[in-house]
Amino acid sequence: MSGTRETRIWKLPPGLSGSKESLRNSAEILGAAEVLQRGGLVAFPTETVYGLGANGLDAHAVAGIFAAKGRPADNPLILHIATLADLDQVVARLPAQAAHLAHIFWPGPLTLVLPKTENVPMITTGGLGTVAVRMPDHPVALALIEVTGVPLAAPSANTSGRPSPTEAAHVAADLLGKIDIILDGGSTGIGVESTVVDCTGASPVILRPGGVSKEALEQAIGGTVEVAPHLIAAEEFSEGPVRSPGMKYNHYAPKAPALLVEGQPPDIFEQLTSLAVELQAEGEIVGLMVSQEMVRYWQERAIDTGKWQIMCMGSRRNLEEIAANIYRGLRDLDNTNATRILLEGVPTSGLGLAIMNRLTKAAGHRVVGDGN
Ligand code: AMP
Ligand code: MG
Repeated sequence: MSGTRETRIWKLPPGLSGSKESLRNSAEILGAAEVLQRGGLVAFPTETVYGLGANGLDAHAVAGIFAAKGRPADNPLILHIATLADLDQVVARLPAQAAHLAHIFWPGPLTLVLPKTENVPMITTGGLGTVAVRMPDHPVALALIEVTGVPLAAPSANTSGRPSPTEAAHVAADLLGKIDIILDGGSTGIGVESTVVDCTGASPVILRPGGVSKEALEQAIGGTVEVAPHLIAAEEFSEGPVRSPGMKYNHYAPKAPALLVEGQPPDIFEQLTSLAVELQAEGEIVGLMVSQEMVRYWQERAIDTGKWQIMCMGSRRNLEEIAANIYRGLRDLDNTNATRILLEGVPTSGLGLAIMNRLTKAAGHRVVGDGN
């Protein structure tokens, strides 16, 4: 089904995204839109991660996404739109609260799950009667959707199960020869995927934490927002129907087995250090993804970290910075000879909820330490 494709990588000239008009008329956007209209596959930057786009209303084109990514057929895709008017063709009913959230957060990293129209093929929604929709906040993504003239189904542009791509080089590492075009628009800003909110019930429910925090959603609706039970207990072990099929799969995993350490400094720093020392003594090559504060702790105590592979994800006081760096850090650790990986946890407030969701999955739910 997937076959081999000759992947062309088109770098968008820097500064092009400054003007909407020049971007829409650029050879890169016009060429990519034509490929999409013919049912092809185009990876493009969004403000969250790189997406792998296809015409979301063309079942054959969408099948190409599942084949290229090796994505399970029951894991539905998000449709990306450029204007609010595009909603009508894919959404059967827009409850007032969903319209309110769209007005506040679009364009932006918020995905709304709503009842679908007949236009949306079942393959796009993984067989569900609902459809996930968002308007991305990235000039390249918006120009591409507008010029193509259809909603684009666009999951993250990685091989299923691997860390999501935040740079064009990550897309190429996974999908070269499997897709038609990679539009290289530089690094993505936010670095974790959108927040998925189910808007089909009486009140919104977070199905996947992401770029819009629970706190921001609660402020917008003036009340508490529920978090789906599978985000609290691992979905594999929970009862009842799966509400967000994608969340049951192990995602974002580096190749070497990883362990997530939770807690507050200085305890978390002490635990990470003693685990690294122990693993090294057992003959493992230790890879760590840690904060600047952890690195400083080692420096101040003159701890010998010479044999460890260390990726710094940013400051614990700047969760935006950490979110932007975790997928690159996991991929960089994969490119070392590390045999065991230790990940430093962060508090779950704000963007921290999305970061910890991704790190927990990267660790295959192997978590130690004191989360409080
Ligand atoms: P990705 O495309 O990798 O960003 O993943 C899309 C996420 O949105 C997955 O977690 C899906 O389970 C979720 N999703 C997409 N469509 C639906 C839907 N109709 N109902 C519930 N969750 C959805
Ligand atoms: Mg994904």
